[in-house]
Amino acid sequence: MTAVRRLELRLVGLPLVRPFRTSMGVATRKECVLVRVETDEAEGWGECVSDVEPDFSAEWNASVWGMITTFLGPALLGANEVTAASLERAFAPWRGNRMAKATLVNALLDAELRSRGESLASALGADKDAVICGVSVGIAETTDALREQVDGYLADGYRRIKLKIEPGLDVERVAAVRTDHPDVLLSVDANAAYRLDDVDVFRALDDLDLLMVEQPLHHEDLVEHAKLQAQVRTDLCLDESIRSAADAAAALALGACRIVNIKQGRVGGVPEARAIHDVCAAASVPVWCGGMLETGIGRATNLALAAMPGFTLPNDTSASARYFSEDLTEPFVLDPDGTMRVPAGPGIGVVPDPGRLDSTTIRREVLEL
Ligand code: MG
Repeated sequence: MTAVRRLELRLVGLPLVRPFRTSMGVATRKECVLVRVETDEAEGWGECVSDVEPDFSAEWNASVWGMITTFLGPALLGANEVTAASLERAFAPWRGNRMAKATLVNALLDAELRSRGESLASALGADKDAVICGVSVGIAETTDALREQVDGYLADGYRRIKLKIEPGLDVERVAAVRTDHPDVLLSVDANAAYRLDDVDVFRALDDLDLLMVEQPLHHEDLVEHAKLQAQVRTDLCLDESIRSAADAAAALALGACRIVNIKQGRVGGVPEARAIHDVCAAASVPVWCGGMLETGIGRATNLALAAMPGFTLPNDTSASARYFSEDLTEPFVLDPDGTMRVPAGPGIGVVPDPGRLDSTTIRREVLEL
């Protein structure tokens, strides 16, 4: 139990090493909100997964900034004795805004763990000290360009390839990669770009021996996903549709998916992500950790989460170099066996490099008592 004395927000911007195109649009740059909290005993860091536009989610960087400076930050600073668990309850009066909430919940959890010298992975009951990594490959200009990118990532050691798809750039492209690599773990992610009427696309994908098809239909849907899952052999995985442990329970009860992609930064933070993991583990449904092009702060948090026992599929925990020429933290590196080590130090185990942090900061604001 502690009190938070000071809260520092930064908007940081980093160029991406290669444009990332999905069915929602193209990103050439990463901009995100970072929070540093200071308690009586320690500091803690949280990275928000929102983006410059509300395209993947209704939240976006400016809404997160406003939510934290107007509501969440003052509530956190005003609480005398606060823990990451009690903070979730303190934030309950405000609906949604899970990305903004996650940033503060995770920062406070990091500070709590640093103050008692325990790693996040240990606090989550991790059963591994390295996690298996996959990579998410954006929609390329041409099929040949896609094949070349996939070859490069496999040479790096990634153990699962996920291809972003959209209508018209799907079966043929995936088939080309499957022909090149008959045995590689391969999946696709549609980011909600299809409708139930497109079932023939998914029947064709059934022939390509995919690990999963991720979020084919509407970003809030469960019922139509259940109808689609009943018509295809390949396991469906939900990402955007799972906003909470309650959503996960509903999805599994409906048969809307057989795999869940857990993104802690999208569901309200590490405690809610853990609750989703537990719902899935109780139903023997495998989970894996998705990515949101995080800097080293969010990546460290994801690695600890992905070390939990139910995370049995390769994770989108790629190396810093897949995204940035220079990360905010010490770079995360893929080991030759396609795994990445889980930070073992207190809390998330990393902090930003001060010079790098300052040179990437676009906007800064401090809230204090
Ligand atoms: Mg996804």
